[in-house]
Amino acid sequence: MSDNQIYDVIIAGAGPAGSTAATLLAQYGYHVLMLDKDQHPRFHIGESMLPMAEPIMKRLNIDWSCGNLVKGGAEFIDEKTGRRTFFPFEGKYKTFQVERSVFDQRLFENAIKHGVETHEQEKVTHVDCNTERVNIETDKANYQGRYFIDATGRNAIMGRSQQTINKLDKLGKFALYKHYKLVNNLTTQALFETGNIEILLTELGWFWCIPLTNQRLSVGLVVQKDAPSDLKGADLFNHYASASPRLTELLKGAELLTDVRTEADFSYFNEQRHGVRYACCGDVAGFLDPVFSSGFFFAVKTAEMVADRLHQGFEEQREAEADLHNSSDEIYQTGFQTMYLMIERFYRSNLVHNLFFEAERAPRVKEEIVAILAGDLWTDDNNFQQGLLTGRNNIAMFDS
Ligand SMILES: Cc1cc2nc3c(=O)[nH]c(=O)nc-3n(C[C@H](O)[C@H](O)[C@H](O)COP(=O)(O)OP(=O)(O)OC[C@H]3O[C@@H](n4cnc5c(N)ncnc54)[C@H](O)[C@@H]3O)c2cc1C
Repeated sequence: MSDNQIYDVIIAGAGPAGSTAATLLAQYGYHVLMLDKDQHPRFHIGESMLPMAEPIMKRLNIDWSCGNLVKGGAEFIDEKTGRRTFFPFEGKYKTFQVERSVFDQRLFENAIKHGVETHEQEKVTHVDCNTERVNIETDKANYQGRYFIDATGRNAIMGRSQQTINKLDKLGKFALYKHYKLVNNLTTQALFETGNIEILLTELGWFWCIPLTNQRLSVGLVVQKDAPSDLKGADLFNHYASASPRLTELLKGAELLTDVRTEADFSYFNEQRHGVRYACCGDVAGFLDPVFSSGFFFAVKTAEMVADRLHQGFEEQREAEADLHNSSDEIYQTGFQTMYLMIERFYRSNLVHNLFFEAERAPRVKEEIVAILAGDLWTDDNNFQQGLLTGRNNIAMFDS
């Protein structure tokens, strides 16, 4: 292969992380190849977005107000007592509820529009990154590049081959979810007008209700992996859905659009997020329970961080250095750790009852919680966040 056939960057995975990194690098002028084992449009769960993703969408030239439902904020409802609290997103940036198959395809096509070469239905099977270059094997061909980005989502090709994926056992959950088409009435109309995600707290776990466009509702149940129940799959979902007053109200007369789908044991941290001529972004770097809808945001944020730092590395001819991403990775960890601590408190110390339901009495604290829920994780004036981080500041501590 002659030198002009060597890609600057090869990316495995064309989800939000891969497409974001690819587009930004193409904007910098690099020759990028992006490979995905599937083909868009493909179903993906994860429909509720955070406001702080908007500046990144702007950089990508994506107008995400188009075709998506405006998300007003996040509402937490205790099904037993009927107590509820609402965290509005009224800041500088807007956010949306998106149908991922459609939106991920848009991000992918946008990468192509920016000059990224893409191959679908081509699976990366082996990666070799050395000080000279990267060699990528797929089920169809071999490629060479100056740099590799792993954006393969929870498949985490590098993390799994290097055995650096650490499961966050304390967040060992599984999720069951379905899509419905709702009947238009005053209750559903109100939900679609606010566009809020609703988190319903039940006896066994919690439900998400995410309104999408065209009267579509995504409903998911998240429960402890070893929750005591004789019921499984659709029976478990239906049992708890019919015991929920809010869901019963929303789903009256609704049409079921999909069978129940399941995801299990999804929370982990990848200990090795970059190395010689490679970096990870999106779920590959780590994935947290979906209760605060942070997955898509971390995916595009880490992609942005990796792309910007790599551009700097190329300019300084430092791209082969294993510690190229050290400083941006430290920044990422602050955000990831904050979200982890919020989630840990959600499950372990009843964050919603002890704090969220009381937050009206302390407007400053409420504002600071809203900032975290919006993805505004890198400021130095959020006392609530500082308290979280200084209280216990190491993921390893929680799992020892
Ligand atoms: C139950 C559940 C609910 C969720 N809810 C939300 C939510 O409400 N809001 C939110 O923001 N996030 C949510 N998420 C998380 C969100 O879906 C992910 O964080 C997000 O999709 C990560 O994007 P990504 O690009 O890193 O990975 P993905 O979107 O998974 O993309 C990875 C891509 O890599 C490809 N790939 C994998 N292996 C290979 C290979 N070997 N070769 C080539 N291609 C490969 C895949 O086909 C895929 O297209 C949820 C997750 C779960 C499990």
